[in-house]
Amino acid sequence: MKEKFTEKGLSVDTNDRQHSKTDLPFIDQKMLFNIFMQVPAILAVLTGRDFMLQLVNEPFELLCGKTDKELIGKRLEDVLPPHGGFDILKVLDTVYETGETYTGKEKKVIVVNEKFENYTYYFDVNCQLYYNEQIDDKRIFLFVYNVTEKVLSRKRFNFTEKKFTDIFYKLPNPMYTCHEDGSIHLYNEAFVSFFGRKPQQYDRWSLAKQVFTKKCVLIPECDWPFKLLFHKDQGEKCELIFELESGEKRNVISYTERITQGELKSVYPLSSINVIVDITEQVQSRLVLEKTARIIKNLYTQAPVLIGTVTGEDFVITLVNPELQKFFGRRQLENQRVEEALPELKSQGVLKTLKSVYNTGKAMVGTEQLLFISPGKNQKARPKYINYSCQPIYEAENQVTGILIFGYDVTKLVLERKKNSENIKKIMETLPQITSISSSTGTKIYFNRFFYKYSGISKKEASVAGWNSILHPSMAKSIIKEWENCREEKKSFCREIRLKRKSDGMYRWHIAQLKPVKNAIGEVINWVASAVDIHEQKVKEERKDEFISIASHELKTPLTTVSAYLQLINECLDDKDVQMKTYAGKALGSVKRLNDLISELLDVSKLQQDKFTLNLTTFNLDVLLKSAMENAQYQYNHKIFLFGDQPGEIVADEERILQVVNNLLSNANKYSPGKEEIHIIVQNQKGGTVVCVKDFGIGISADHREKVFERYFRVSEKERYYEGLGIGLFISMQIIQRHNGSMWVTSEPGQGSSFYFFLPNNKKMP
Ligand code: ADP
Repeated sequence: MKEKFTEKGLSVDTNDRQHSKTDLPFIDQKMLFNIFMQVPAILAVLTGRDFMLQLVNEPFELLCGKTDKELIGKRLEDVLPPHGGFDILKVLDTVYETGETYTGKEKKVIVVNEKFENYTYYFDVNCQLYYNEQIDDKRIFLFVYNVTEKVLSRKRFNFTEKKFTDIFYKLPNPMYTCHEDGSIHLYNEAFVSFFGRKPQQYDRWSLAKQVFTKKCVLIPECDWPFKLLFHKDQGEKCELIFELESGEKRNVISYTERITQGELKSVYPLSSINVIVDITEQVQSRLVLEKTARIIKNLYTQAPVLIGTVTGEDFVITLVNPELQKFFGRRQLENQRVEEALPELKSQGVLKTLKSVYNTGKAMVGTEQLLFISPGKNQKARPKYINYSCQPIYEAENQVTGILIFGYDVTKLVLERKKNSENIKKIMETLPQITSISSSTGTKIYFNRFFYKYSGISKKEASVAGWNSILHPSMAKSIIKEWENCREEKKSFCREIRLKRKSDGMYRWHIAQLKPVKNAIGEVINWVASAVDIHEQKVKEERKDEFISIASHELKTPLTTVSAYLQLINECLDDKDVQMKTYAGKALGSVKRLNDLISELLDVSKLQQDKFTLNLTTFNLDVLLKSAMENAQYQYNHKIFLFGDQPGEIVADEERILQVVNNLLSNANKYSPGKEEIHIIVQNQKGGTVVCVKDFGIGISADHREKVFERYFRVSEKERYYEGLGIGLFISMQIIQRHNGSMWVTSEPGQGSSFYFFLPNNKKMP
């Protein structure tokens, strides 16, 4: 149609358009017509005051949705589609009236189609009036150019650019554009906070001080990817390490892309856009994860532990570490059912254990579990010991899907220990002393050969009665009770006891010891008892005691005579004979000391022979203490003080209690040379009275404190400087204990000692 028009033109008049060459008298009509029809704009020639269409081109037809036949001769107003916005008729009116040409740019017109859909168009509009004075003819040439696409694309770009800028600035990742020469133009807030400052004119490519590969190899600036990009066709993404100006190193993924197209190119020609994604945290946690994974892998592959998993109800072996494989020998384990791969385990309760863990979801542990394992298929099983734990593996909540087995092969350890205990047993068997082992609860486990030989009792009897059957009847009850106490309190026992020898029926003295054997966490696992024969020494000691006893008795009578004669001589001497009087006084003093010693020795032998009796009377303890104090004050240089409560009357052996107080005062005096005071402190308590004798002397070290009450005990380093036999405190303790009282000491070396005794309130004679 177009071709038809252009080629034929108006003058040819071959088409069916309703215009004639006389209608266009102004210029070369054919040329005008051709131009008119080919212009890619909406054109129309309007005539008359009501703007009748005289000529239209194809775009005009398209705009109105009508053919030229339907248009020519019609009023413009009637053929235009419904529209709003730019008012063309008003413009035409003005042009018609004034004759002035109208030029309008990008006039917005909203067209509504038959379906009431809105379309927005932008037009450049030009209206010119042509007036033929000769025939008084006014025509308007309407030129409308559709610029909708241009306007919209510009608007689109404006919108895109704004959006891009917003996103660019707000994006959490550092971003920047770089010119071909490395200068940085556009950058966002994240860029500034990442690098710690804004880029300056002299900055090139990046603000990183140094750039490294992810494996920490330094990249020289000439090879920085943001720079190399300009010699490449494609953008690049790489993992790098940036050393910032602060010295901090950050792991990043750097994206770099050239701006090659679109509107951006016109704004930032010859530039690249670079995006930095900071992955330091991820890299660090990846490193931690990798390290953990390595450790787990090492543990799994290298640790001397057995690790394996079984999955599902039929216990398919899904994981076997090298150690576990070694434990079971050269056999296909993985992807096999336990039952098939390790048939020997079935009869040993292993499947039962797995089933229990699988069904209950409760872990199971075992120590030194004995398993017989075949080193290979159809080979003879060998004993192996393992410590193991079977943990359920949960997939969903409460859903056990498998079991993790973790174990230690302790075969070597157990066999070694068994060998050691065999050796120890052999040693114990050959020991020339009674030895036995019992369980933590006291069940008899083992008696050595010497025990059976010495006691002559059968194994059966030993397992029931043990040592009890050979204890001397006089001490059996008290010793059994003491043993029980020790067991309850988990403490050792050491005492002299008499055990019957089968060969001659003799009860021989032994030092018996009972000691707890504890495990690593302090639990008693066994008790070991031993008895060493000390009969010979004991007999010798008894003989010595007997000798001391006899000698003391024998000495006592002549010493009393000597003392009497000395007193007589002393009295007969003239007071003027000072020298002789002094000699007699000294001799009397020595005889008294000797007499005291002999009395003490006699007391000891009486105590040994259980012939020590108390002569109980009712007396006032206060009076006794005062008289002891006065007496001591008379004898010693120290100042003696009596403090505290006033004790009343008590029932006790007055002479023996005085002996105890005198002994304590004598020791306080003896062991605090050069000190000035000795205190006697009395405290009335609910059930009795506590008396304390306190000195400020040499004191007693902790390890000697308990022993000072033993017979013949003396602190060795002091023996040389202080006279004594080490029996005073022994006798005192025995006296107090026989009054149902108790005695103890507190002391600090170099500070002094306090000896206490407690006497219960025996107000009535027993
Ligand atoms: P001794 O005759 O040796 O004094 P004791 O039985 O009275 O015998 O005392 C036993 C040991 O206790 C003494 O050898 C001494 O080492 C120590 N002892 C007793 N009383 C005191 C005291 N008040 N201060 C320091 N050591 C003391």
